[in-house]
Amino acid sequence: MKNLKLTTIKVKNQARTLVKVKDITIGEGFTVIAGPCSIESEEQAIETAIRVKEAGADILRGGAFKPRTSPYAFQGLGIKGLQILEKAGKESGLPVVTEVLDPRDVSWVCEYVDILQVGTRNMQNFSLLKEVGKAGKPVLLKRGMFSTLSEWLSCAEYVLAEGNPNVILCERGIRTFESYTRNTLDLAIVPSIKEVSHLPVIVDPSHGTGRLSLVERMCLASIAAGADGVMVEVHRNPAEALCDGDQSLSPPMFMSMMKKVRKLQECMVEINALDRESSK
Ligand code: PEP
Ligand code: MN
Repeated sequence: MKNLKLTTIKVKNQARTLVKVKDITIGEGFTVIAGPCSIESEEQAIETAIRVKEAGADILRGGAFKPRTSPYAFQGLGIKGLQILEKAGKESGLPVVTEVLDPRDVSWVCEYVDILQVGTRNMQNFSLLKEVGKAGKPVLLKRGMFSTLSEWLSCAEYVLAEGNPNVILCERGIRTFESYTRNTLDLAIVPSIKEVSHLPVIVDPSHGTGRLSLVERMCLASIAAGADGVMVEVHRNPAEALCDGDQSLSPPMFMSMMKKVRKLQECMVEINALDRESSK
């Protein structure tokens, strides 16, 4: 019998969901996920992993199956990419997250990673959602680029309905008429989620803006908006990246951003205390 009590919608005084991954708790403090858009080689992944860890990242990201607009673009290294990601995670000491595209791959991809990512294009792939729900690993569910908050939560509900409470929502920008940015990063969704759901929510300013120059500011803005973390693309040499080089930070840029992230996080402790006082 499925656990029918699990639901994404919060009830009064309900505690927020905390998602534990090794030593990291998503939903407590501010979790930073960083790494390349895709795993390209062992050297690239391990060097990037070690450098983001040195800068203070909590979790390593890296795609092995890439959902590309063109079938002729680099599709990711597949199983080889997962083996490299696992090794980069071990060498850096960081838990790892990767996107899974196909329900048939879920059970074996789980053997390599700590968190399964469902991408924007698959947010409403219900067979994939059911499969990741059964897998027993935390799920990072990106917002569909054309989806409302309520559609997004309904998709999270599919995972919960399989008995898996460990869902992390990720705002990654939506399609609007604006074309200066790759997507329109909807930061108002962060406090909106907090109003209606107990699930943790993080922000991806890399895909959300598609512009290197905007990533740091949007990371900082995510902290102020009350997000539980961010996911940022970092490449050891963005000019040579096989995917999303234009929005990838270099390791020194990431290091400099992280100093500001941790500083702002400290300020947020005081802001949150003032919030609690004023809501009494
Ligand atoms: C990604 O994070 O690598 C990715 C493809 O993101 P999205 O699904 O948000 O486009
Ligand atoms: Mn990318």
